[in-house]
Amino acid sequence: MFKFLKEKLKNAVSAIKKNLTKSKEKEVEKEVEAVEKKVEKSKIKEEKKQGLIAKIKEKLTTFTLNEAEFEKVFWELERALLENNVAMATIEKIHDNLKEQLVSKSIKKGKLEQEIKEILKQTLEQILLEPFNLIKKIKERKEREPFVMAFFGINGSGKTTTIAKIAYLLKKNEIGCVLAASDTFRAASIEQLQEHADKLKVELIKHKYGADPAAVAFDAIAHAKARNIEVVLIDTAGRMQSNVNLMEEMGKIIRVAKPDLKIFVGEAIIGNDAVTQAKEFNDKIGIDAIILTKADVDEKGGASISVSYVTGKPILFLGTGQDYKDLEVFDKKKIIGSLGL
Ligand code: GDP
Ligand code: GDP
Repeated sequence: MFKFLKEKLKNAVSAIKKNLTKSKEKEVEKEVEAVEKKVEKSKIKEEKKQGLIAKIKEKLTTFTLNEAEFEKVFWELERALLENNVAMATIEKIHDNLKEQLVSKSIKKGKLEQEIKEILKQTLEQILLEPFNLIKKIKERKEREPFVMAFFGINGSGKTTTIAKIAYLLKKNEIGCVLAASDTFRAASIEQLQEHADKLKVELIKHKYGADPAAVAFDAIAHAKARNIEVVLIDTAGRMQSNVNLMEEMGKIIRVAKPDLKIFVGEAIIGNDAVTQAKEFNDKIGIDAIILTKADVDEKGGASISVSYVTGKPILFLGTGQDYKDLEVFDKKKIIGSLGL
């Protein structure tokens, strides 16, 4: 997923190193020359001379960055992050962490690259959130109460496919589920979900097109209660966060279904737009977790790095393909590792 960003980060860090070393070396060389001249001219004792030379050597192996120099070199990194859809808020956090740990500190020459990578790694460890264990959460639910999950997002984000993937995952874990076709608006949405339900051999509760989506969810929950089915997965119509009517409709579904989890489904490939959407859905309904789809075709990866920092909500899974099995638990360590840090 980070094919592009990994390469860019590597290049940015080595460009920083190159720039710095060149300018710093000249500076140090001049200083050394000046001191050497002084030492030669002076009549100081031999042992004092040795002390001075040791100091010069220390200067040659370490250096200190001032704020202006830092800002100049951070630009390389900022550009790499921007080009890969990393959100501005996240870039600022990285900037502040690097600045705090690099400026006015004595840095060993040859260690700068390692140092920057280490700080980047620490920063990502802070800003990426560890997801909760969905299966465990479901198993810990109140006895006989179905665990209700509602999925929201804009059209085409991969909601329906993701719901089918979750149903498949639950089945593998011997957890029963029923689907609710609460997208009563988009043509063919009910048929699409029916197809998945048939393939996965799970039940689907549906009404006619144009029906009240909240009523469908209510029926699905009642059905699950009556049959002691553990989980209800509610598919909802794709909506833009700017569509007031549909946002209100979403509020009604939530009031009626009282979902245990409100999941925002967004496309990783749209980068910052996915982050903005997640933030707006979160502001409106308070989402509990995020699933980013199409991570398999996202070469930049910026949304996966930014969305949790901006919303404060964890990424639960990444969608990594069109098959039911293509749903990966979001793994912080793996993400950091795949960035080459
Ligand atoms: P919805 O409108 O939000 O319900 O979106 P759909 O579930 O219909 O998905 C839209 C398209 O995206 C379909 O062609 C899916 O096969 C595809 N899709 C969904 N998730 C993924 C994914 O993780 N990777 C890839 N490559 N395609 C996906
Ligand atoms: P626009 O945002 O004004 O262009 O509205 P749309 O073209 O998306 O939809 C037209 C009408 O259908 C509006 O009154 C919407 O409230 C309604 N509508 C759109 N999407 C949905 C949906 O998913 N469910 C329901 N129940 N109504 C919808």
